[in-house]
Amino acid sequence: MLNEFPVVVTGGAGFIGSHLCERLLGAGKEVICVDNFYTGAKRNIHHLLKEAHFEVLRHDVAFPLFVETGRIFNLACPASPVHYQNDPVATVKTSVQGAINMLGLAKRRGARILQASTSEVYGDPQVNPQSESYLGNVNPIGPRACYDEGKRCAETLFFDYHRQHGLEIRVARIFNTYGPRMAINDGRVVSNFIVQALRGNDLTVFGRGEQTRAFCYVEDMVDGLLALMDQDDERGPINLGNPQEITIIELAEAVLRLIGGRSKIVYRPRPEDDPCQRRPDISKARALLGWEPTVGLEDGLKESIDYFRRQLD
Ligand code: NAD
Ligand code: UDP
Repeated sequence: MLNEFPVVVTGGAGFIGSHLCERLLGAGKEVICVDNFYTGAKRNIHHLLKEAHFEVLRHDVAFPLFVETGRIFNLACPASPVHYQNDPVATVKTSVQGAINMLGLAKRRGARILQASTSEVYGDPQVNPQSESYLGNVNPIGPRACYDEGKRCAETLFFDYHRQHGLEIRVARIFNTYGPRMAINDGRVVSNFIVQALRGNDLTVFGRGEQTRAFCYVEDMVDGLLALMDQDDERGPINLGNPQEITIIELAEAVLRLIGGRSKIVYRPRPEDDPCQRRPDISKARALLGWEPTVGLEDGLKESIDYFRRQLD
């Protein structure tokens, strides 16, 4: 049974976006994937092209978009530090002008719109775990600011469009997510370690590897995004992530244990403003969405390893 109007997924050819498109199609929705393929790839959505209710628009969200839609998931934005720092001005334009354009589309259509925000709005947090009430510790002029401040401004725009124009908004603060369809050259830690180990190269741990992150498997994340979009009461911001916190060195050891081989751990300089600790407090998502992650790190890593092994073959 088709919904009245198509669902727009910006960034739909990316890592999380492609899983989201797949799930929406599976639920009988008509989906318009909007992507400029900056970090996304056609191969991520190739298997969906045969679906009658799937459409792809090559489009940069920094420019206005006019389509019929009832719901918008705004995921368009490079997410890996390597990629978002490659052209920081474009990252700000994507986050801020992209949000304005997609909010404009939602306003015109009376559509509900969800923003893929990020744990980076908390910057290098001085409290752990981070709950939604924590206002963050972001360096506004550092190399990560194009992403962090861009996403913070996008949240501002979402709430101003809600207050000023009565838009139905949803804001998810996504914590580190991993899984199949991360790009091989993505540059984020999980894909880097797996690809390095599968190639028999050494695993590059930045700093001493004592910094922490909490990694959420992509299917769990998509469940959370859908749960947030589909309920009528909570607009967010709401943390989505897996609260199982580990150090980067522990992650490297886990990958080596699962893959085996001759790779060693080598140490490289820590990037500027790299957060020391990160773990989501997901009490709000548990209580209001009835959502929590179900895939443990080892199972998620095994799925990811299988995927990258097939890609490298
Ligand atoms: P990704 O880089 O794989 O996907 C981003 C997609 O957006 C790509 O397909 C890219 O081509 C597209 N895109 C980039 N700029 C665009 C533009 N100007 N116009 C149209 N399309 C554009 O990253 P991802 O991990 O899938 O992240 C998806 C969203 O989730 C992003 O908004 C990201 O900030 C957010 N997020 C992800 C994580 C994570 O750990 N994966 C964590 C926090 C937030
Ligand atoms: N990291 C690392 N080696 C790599 C890539 C990343 O040690 O090859 C570290 C990075 O310094 C950070 C953590 O892993 O502390 C997570 O980095 P990622 O780029 O995946 O995401 P972030 O959470 O920093 O946005």
